Parts: sequence; C-alpha cells; structure tokens
Amino acid sequence: MKESVFKMTKQIEKRSIMNYEAPNRSTGIVNGSCSNVLNWDDVRFSWAYPKYKRMLANFWTPFEINMSHDIRQFPTLTEVEQESFLKIIGLLALLDSIQSDYAQKAAEFITDSSVNALMIILAQQEVVHNHSYSYVLSSIVPRAKQEEVFDYWRNDPILRKRNTFVTNGYKDFAENPTVENFLKSMVYDVILEGLFFYSGFAFFYNLARNQKMVASSTMINYINRDEQIHVGLFADIFKEVLNENPEYRTEELAKFVNDTFIKAAELEIEWGKTIIGNKIDGLSMIEVEAYIKFMANKRANQLGYAKPFEGYDTNPMKWIVAYQNVDEGKTDFFEQKSRQYTKASDANGFDDL
Ligand code: ZN
Ligand code: ZN
Repeated sequence: MKESVFKMTKQIEKRSIMNYEAPNRSTGIVNGSCSNVLNWDDVRFSWAYPKYKRMLANFWTPFEINMSHDIRQFPTLTEVEQESFLKIIGLLALLDSIQSDYAQKAAEFITDSSVNALMIILAQQEVVHNHSYSYVLSSIVPRAKQEEVFDYWRNDPILRKRNTFVTNGYKDFAENPTVENFLKSMVYDVILEGLFFYSGFAFFYNLARNQKMVASSTMINYINRDEQIHVGLFADIFKEVLNENPEYRTEELAKFVNDTFIKAAELEIEWGKTIIGNKIDGLSMIEVEAYIKFMANKRANQLGYAKPFEGYDTNPMKWIVAYQNVDEGKTDFFEQKSRQYTKASDANGFDDL
C-alpha cells in the first residue's frame, strides 16, 4: 500500500537548459542528468541514432504530391465514400494536432538530449501531417466545407468520446507529471499513433486498390510510415523508463495496459462502424474489426505486454500489407514521385503487418 502512495507521488523533473556538472551522455531517460549538449557519437541509447537517420530519410512534404487526378475524382465517389473520406480527414487532423503538443510536453521531461532531438523531429512530422490534411481538403472541397471538416472533432459525439479517452490520459500527465502518469500517457500515445489511425488507413488503402484518390492515399501512406516510427520511438522510451525504474513494472500497470487497449479497440471498432460499416465496397466490417484487434495485440506486444485479444495473431487483411509497405520496393501502387530523400533500406521502420 505504502509503495503505491510512493509511486503516485514520484515526480519527474524537467530537463535543464544547461548543466555544467553533468555529462553529455545522459545518465537516465527521466530524472537523469545530462549537460543537454547533443553529440550523436556519445549518446546513451544505441537505438537513438538509427532512428534519427530513418526519420530524416523519411522526410516528405505535401507539396510533392500532385492532387490534380484526385480533384477530378472526388466528385465521382459515392456519397457514402465522400462522407467517410471527409470524416476520417477530420479525425486525423485533430489527432495530429494534439500529438505535436503531447510530444513537446513529453520531451520537456526527457533528460537525454538525443531522445529529446527525436521528439522534436516527431513533432515536426506531426505538423507536416496536419498540413497534408489542409492540402487535401483545400484541393477537393470549398473553403467552408474544409472549415466544417476541421470542426468535426467538436461536433461528432463518437469522435468526442474517442478523443476524450486519449486526451484525459495526456491531461493527467500534463497536470501531474509523475513517472506513473508518464508511463500511462505513453500507452495512450501508442493507442493514438498506432491504433486510432488504423480503420482510417484501411479505408484509404481500399480506395487506392480500387484506383480511387491515389494521391490522397499516397499521403496517408507516408503518414502511416511516419506513425509506425513514432510508435516504435514511444515504445522504446516506455521500455527504458521501466528499465530504469523497475519498481513500476507491476501487475497493476500490466492490467492498466490490457484494459486500456481493450477499451481503445472498442472505441476504434465503434468508429470503424461509422466510417466503414457494411457500406464500403471491398471492406467488410468483420475483417476491419479483426484487424483492429490484431493491431491492439501488436501494440500491447510492442510495449512488452501480453496480447489483450486471444486468437488475433495474424493480420486478417493480408492485402493491406502491400499498401502499407510500398517503400520495401515490392509494390508500386501509388504514384510515387522520385523520393530522393529515401535511400536507407535497413530497418525501414515498418513492422511486419
Ligand atoms: Zn501524425
Ligand atoms: Zn505520430
């Protein structure tokens, strides 16, 4: 009992701007000491530099994507497809907006200059993601409609419920930055970046495989690729915090992870029914539901925990793999323009979906 009171109150301290007494290589991911000087050849975690290279290699901007074909095609989509398309963009715009802010808040408490640097790149990528939503919408719908879509998060009750679920988790950490709240906020982060995007991704890839809105889906593909690295980064931070603070590796935390993923999957399935249901050609809700449970299992596993859904061990939507992993060079579904930034081919950040 006493231990749990102690845990609740163990605060994490912000990184100082400069510390003359501390080494350049940090002594801990949180509550460590670090001069705050960044020398990539002298960092604490071996995974940090490869991730840095990968994140830079993935650099992209929406300006690279030619929307002319999508502009002509959008009015030819069915009414249901158009509505779901806009709803998903509205949801992603909210999630990515929150995300750049959460990344910054979390970064303030990371006492390692290299991991902080990765968080800054992550936040920058979220800004690009948000830009892509404005870019797509300003191409295909009038300005008033664009503004309406950017307000869906305010007005749609299902979206509100989902978003509150994540933002409450972030708020607890922002208002009371304890080690425990930081760990829990990262579980919500992995849900946001690694689960809450996924029925939306499925919708877009399904359009693409029917040769619809390929430019928009290309952007979604780049966002998907970034998000997988973000999930990997937060999973690494989560595991390092636990390695350095093993007293938090409790049954209680394991139960929290399990329960939170189950709740998150339920919310994602509810959302999937709204945007996909049984109304989109080529996508069955039974498959989407199994896919969401499979992804929840995968994410819990990445954090080092047991799978919350028994029996969902393989991806039920095999076709999606080819659309998510275009950079592996096996497929060329999208109108890929020359991506001079992407050269690295080792550990390309995609998980084996
Ligand atoms: Zn994003
Ligand atoms: Zn992200």
